[in-house]
Amino acid sequence: MSVIAEAINEIKQGLPPHVELIAISKTHPAAFIEEAYAAGQRHFGENKVQELSDKAAALPADIKWHMIGHLQTNKVKYIAPFVHLIHSVDSERLLETINKEAAKHNRTVSCLMQVHIAQEETKFGLTANELHQLLATGIAQRLPNVKICGIMGMATYTDDQEQIRSEFATIKRIFDQTKHDFFPNDNNFCHISMGMSGDYHIAIQEGATLIRVGSSIFGKRYYQK
Ligand SMILES: *Cc1c(COP(=O)(O)O)cnc(C)c1O
Repeated sequence: MSVIAEAINEIKQGLPPHVELIAISKTHPAAFIEEAYAAGQRHFGENKVQELSDKAAALPADIKWHMIGHLQTNKVKYIAPFVHLIHSVDSERLLETINKEAAKHNRTVSCLMQVHIAQEETKFGLTANELHQLLATGIAQRLPNVKICGIMGMATYTDDQEQIRSEFATIKRIFDQTKHDFFPNDNNFCHISMGMSGDYHIAIQEGATLIRVGSSIFGKRYYQK
């Protein structure tokens, strides 16, 4: 068995049935994805529109592609025809654009609202208050070609396990509050995307339903400039 297949099997063995593994393949070649695919993996995530579109065109059609990186409105059109779930929605304008582009393809595109709780300044996402204000405008009802399915978040990049745990717990609380306030009877609103290679065990304990794991499956990433 390949190293990639082994890594996938090992991670999947430890997952509760309600948690989906998304293999984050950014920067890695299509051949790596094919190895993971041969091991049964179907959910893959990328953080750049161009790379995501190129890989989707070249790889099997039954792959479920997740967009996990910052998304500019002018690039939505490239992924709207096929994307399975956009994790990184953080503005009204982006939601409206996704709705418009999805409609052109007669699709409803599933989205997660990205929340910002980590202490780092650079991370994208909405604060809990901004998310509440946005949803209070009734936007979820206004956009028929968008389906808001939950929340995505990241913990601070730190070795402090208790800080990571408490940040994941905060993401879970934001999910619960949002569900209660805006989606009480909507079964589609059910996902919490949190946890990466270094912290997905903690994320699952704190309520993750989608984990985004890259380097533990594919190895180190080498960035070219
Ligand atoms: C790259 C990336 C991941 C995966 O990170 P690893 O540490 O390699 O598992 C998860 N989420 C997001 C948003 C990423 O950009």
